[in-house]
Amino acid sequence: MSDTGDPSAPPPPTGCTLTKLAGIEVGVLKGVGPKRRESLAQLGVSSILDLLWTYPRRYIDRTRQAELADLVVGDEAVVLGRVTKVSASRTRNGKAVVTVMVADSTGSMQVTFFNQAWREGQLPVGTEALFFGKLETFGGRPKMTNPVVDILMGITGQAEGTTKTLRIVPVYPQSQKSNVTSWDLGRMVAESLRRAGSFAEPLDARVLDELDLLDRTAAMHGIHAPATLEEAAAARRRLAFDELLRLQLTLQLRRAALEADARGLRHAVDPEEAGASSGAVTMVSAFLDALPFAPTDAQRRVMAEILADLAGPLPMHRLLQGDVGSGKTVVALAALLGVVQGGHQGALMAPTEVLADQHHQSIRRLLEGLEVPDPSVLGGTRPVSVGLLTASRPAKERRAVVEGMATGSVDIVIGTHALLTDDVGFRSLGLAVVDEQHRFGVEQRAALREKGRGSDGSGHDPDLLVMTATPIPRSAAMVVFGDLSMSVLDEMPAGRTPITTRWLRTGLEQAEAWGRVRAEVAAGRQAFVVCPLVEGSAKVEATSATEEAERLAASELAGLRVGLLHGQMKTTEKDEVMEAFRSGSLDVLVATTVIEVGVDVPAATVMVIEDPGRFGIAQLHQLRGRVGRGGGDSWCYLLGEAVSPDAAVRLEAMEQTTDGFVLAEVDLEVRGEGTILGSRQKGRSDLALASLAKDRDLLDQAAAVAVALTADDPHLAQKPLLVEELRATLDPDDAAYLFKG
Ligand code: ADP
Ligand code: MG
Repeated sequence: MSDTGDPSAPPPPTGCTLTKLAGIEVGVLKGVGPKRRESLAQLGVSSILDLLWTYPRRYIDRTRQAELADLVVGDEAVVLGRVTKVSASRTRNGKAVVTVMVADSTGSMQVTFFNQAWREGQLPVGTEALFFGKLETFGGRPKMTNPVVDILMGITGQAEGTTKTLRIVPVYPQSQKSNVTSWDLGRMVAESLRRAGSFAEPLDARVLDELDLLDRTAAMHGIHAPATLEEAAAARRRLAFDELLRLQLTLQLRRAALEADARGLRHAVDPEEAGASSGAVTMVSAFLDALPFAPTDAQRRVMAEILADLAGPLPMHRLLQGDVGSGKTVVALAALLGVVQGGHQGALMAPTEVLADQHHQSIRRLLEGLEVPDPSVLGGTRPVSVGLLTASRPAKERRAVVEGMATGSVDIVIGTHALLTDDVGFRSLGLAVVDEQHRFGVEQRAALREKGRGSDGSGHDPDLLVMTATPIPRSAAMVVFGDLSMSVLDEMPAGRTPITTRWLRTGLEQAEAWGRVRAEVAAGRQAFVVCPLVEGSAKVEATSATEEAERLAASELAGLRVGLLHGQMKTTEKDEVMEAFRSGSLDVLVATTVIEVGVDVPAATVMVIEDPGRFGIAQLHQLRGRVGRGGGDSWCYLLGEAVSPDAAVRLEAMEQTTDGFVLAEVDLEVRGEGTILGSRQKGRSDLALASLAKDRDLLDQAAAVAVALTADDPHLAQKPLLVEELRATLDPDDAAYLFKG
């Protein structure tokens, strides 16, 4: 392979391309008839490519297999053995029982399956299989009950065409219901590899060399039929790199495509306005000068990044990450004023009414006295006007806001999903800000953006700023938000007070938390108590919160003024309770997670979270962020046992750090990328091998290669093989969009 040829004429590929493999049905394989095809389809396998991309989930090194005689009762064990006896019976109440004797060279064990009558047919005498389960004893003999079974070899012994018994045996994910065994998959994969021969290599030899990657052919053979575990690892690395590269290329292309049909506005702002006391009197500088505090350096830096985007011709697509309390609202406001001062409008969408309401109040306060240029009024200016639009506003008020948005008399509108309603439009939406973006779907963000083009599509694309207080590990952000620009507020405003976090497992220890609440209240401070998450409807959760508030008011918190906040309350009731708490006429607020986001009460210094094991790390971190807001030293108490080993890791991490980015990394380690990538489309472009927690270096390398490949060749005209691969893996609509140029 050479990369020295004439770059304008890429040589035709040698070897099988992914597109070609994607076009061959599994039906061409020996022994794959309609029934087998149906079973494979259930596993998501219909083409040869699907089959080759079904990777072994583990390997068994036959030379190092633990032997029955060495196993310890009570341990999780993997036993490789041969079935020596099978019998089936029924219990008195009719349950099927299949009993199998399994032997290896050192001993034997009894395996019992309940309610799995089909096992009798699956495991005839002579079958070689792996049994995963807990080793128990019965009458002094080792046994397993309902283990996971991987069939390695049918009774016919070795597959045709295999001349040796492999030392490293690949174990494929298998479906017991559809009756496709690891052995079946291995045989089909072997035949596919043989037919494919060599694979077309989409990357230059120089790149492979620099990154020390196997070529595609070696990698495909190495992952399915490795001679050593090292070979399997090297193959995995190359194929994981390919997955990450395809993702990164897709993001680069998506970005280019968005920019190609963008209809952006150049806003009348100057990044300099974010600097300290700029001379020009614009709304942005007037706003910053009037703030009761000096913006942090991080806030100034991020504001300058945003204003530069607003001034530019392309619509901004920017993600602002900043831990709870890092001051994202001020940054968003500066941006909103940047578009308002040029005669356009801004929208801020929040996930809950409580939050929208709170934003509305604090933003009105911060914008008091600020004037907008308006040639239609005497004097040329009028006060900036801020509207609130949520589902529960009275009809008359709603109508006034909607009309003001349409005529332009409302400059900034704060709202919930209600902003996305069909009859809501703007005279000229310049900037859409989405707070707590993870609470919204991709479509909702897009829908808000579309309000800029208007119902007849004649408008422009507004700039978009999405904000999150749930820090995302860098690797995950590169994958999920690789098509967004990124700003990070990595500095807290002065005056944040330290938060001590304690995980109190037992009732005895928990007295400390309630003692602290009473002491702080006695000192004029306030506390939150977050109720356990309850399975079931919001109604059930509300009832349980109500009971908990009553219980606490009668016991641990007797004598204190205890309020209640949950999602089933009417907006006016919620408002009243929040107001009472904010103004200090309540000491303790017992709440469901409706207080998770954004609620700002500086005098609150204690956060008690009941049954914290049920919450994710991000949620716990959000909840804790409600205290430590300037009212003095603060505490967070996590009350209760961990419900799982993962929960224990989360709660320990919470005790050890308040850094949201560190916690996000822990979360990624614990949960894997599944949940982070959850909103992405499922499909072939998913990561089968690559792990965002473990392959950070590989991801950086893939991103660098993707940037280098698209830098001078934005549509990959010189890389037809890569384009073909992306087409083979993307969904067709996506592909059509990305490659229409
Ligand atoms: P978040 O990033 O969690 O949305 P907010 O924007 O709600 O944070 O800010 C948290 C609190 O800090 C607010 O009361 C806000 O007025 C205040 N604040 C923001 N920036 C600064 C600053 N530079 N100095 C002092 N206080 C600030
Ligand atoms: Mg906020």
